[in-house]
Amino acid sequence: MIRFRRIWGWAVLAALCVLLALPAVWRGPSSAVSTSGPTARRTGHTLVLDAGHGGEDGGAVSLTGVPESRINLAIVQKLDQLLGLYGVAPVVLRNEDISLHDSSAETLREKKRSDLQNRAAAVEAVEDAVLLSIHQNSYPDGRYHGAQVFYANGEEALLLAQRIQAALCSALDPDNTRAVKPVSEDVYLMNHISRPAILVECGFLSNQEEEAKLCSDAYQTQLAAVLAGTWLTAEGEREEMQQEEAVPQNEVENPVLLYRVRQ
Ligand SMILES: [Zn+2]
Repeated sequence: MIRFRRIWGWAVLAALCVLLALPAVWRGPSSAVSTSGPTARRTGHTLVLDAGHGGEDGGAVSLTGVPESRINLAIVQKLDQLLGLYGVAPVVLRNEDISLHDSSAETLREKKRSDLQNRAAAVEAVEDAVLLSIHQNSYPDGRYHGAQVFYANGEEALLLAQRIQAALCSALDPDNTRAVKPVSEDVYLMNHISRPAILVECGFLSNQEEEAKLCSDAYQTQLAAVLAGTWLTAEGEREEMQQEEAVPQNEVENPVLLYRVRQ
């Protein structure tokens, strides 16, 4: 039974990767550094993955008692592994069930604040970082469901958020009509960094049907595959645009000048 589930899991993963990331696969690794020619420059962003909460701060709790922090971490780890298959190595802020607070923090409040300050500093320390923070939603009324994407710090984040929202809806939940929103002022991390930032609320742990999906290994893998495919495609397109801009003008306007004229 375990063996069958594993095989099925990998089949889903492989199919989704092929469907969602095909354009990026054909263009090669998105974070590649171009080193040839006089106009060579760094073309990729560095993705920073943040699994929300952790340690004593479990975040929201699902209807069946699963802490949000555990689901966030599972999705981030799957996303990290998937991107690794394409040669992309994100920075992962936490890879286990811990809080990232300083040892001097004592109360839960101090630990939470220190944890968020350290996450913000870690994002700012990464050149060309784009933050992707993973969370799960919850609401007293169990009717509400559907993934929603929030963004902060500029148009680039808005465009990526729109791509992710559209991909999540079309691939996993066509009835979801939620639209992207700027992140609210009370989200510490997103409001204390300068880098483009995306926060994905993958669904509602307070909705019975969605909670069951969010707690399942297969759906977590599907979410990770959609996020990986969207990121790879976006970065692949960005890289392509930069390469087109880097072509010397005389090569475009006067191709004949590249060849010697025989006397
Ligand atoms: Zn959360």
